Amino acid sequence: MKKKKYNITYKNIAKRRIFELYKLAIENIDNIDLARRYIFILWKIKNKARIRLHKELRNKFCKKCYTPWIVGKTLQIRIRKGRIIYKCLYCNRVKRFIIRKV
Ligand SMILES: [Zn+2]
Repeated sequence: MKKKKYNITYKNIAKRRIFELYKLAIENIDNIDLARRYIFILWKIKNKARIRLHKELRNKFCKKCYTPWIVGKTLQIRIRKGRIIYKCLYCNRVKRFIIRKV
């Protein structure tokens, strides 16, 4: 029981750190290497703490080159044939989402 309690706190700290690092990355977006370094540390913390990324952060950076995504600056968004296409302008990685028909 004691161990479980410890783990929960550990994860909460990790979650808070992840948000702080993401905020720092966005503030330092002009210095792209620094911003990528922040996201890289964020990703390391996430893996170490074995937590899932928050919904808000799930599509906010590139998982290949760790560049934080800002539309028009490091990210290009296109809509074609019912799909949203995200393109990372740093490593040219493409991510597609299908738009659900309601
Ligand atoms: Zn990328």
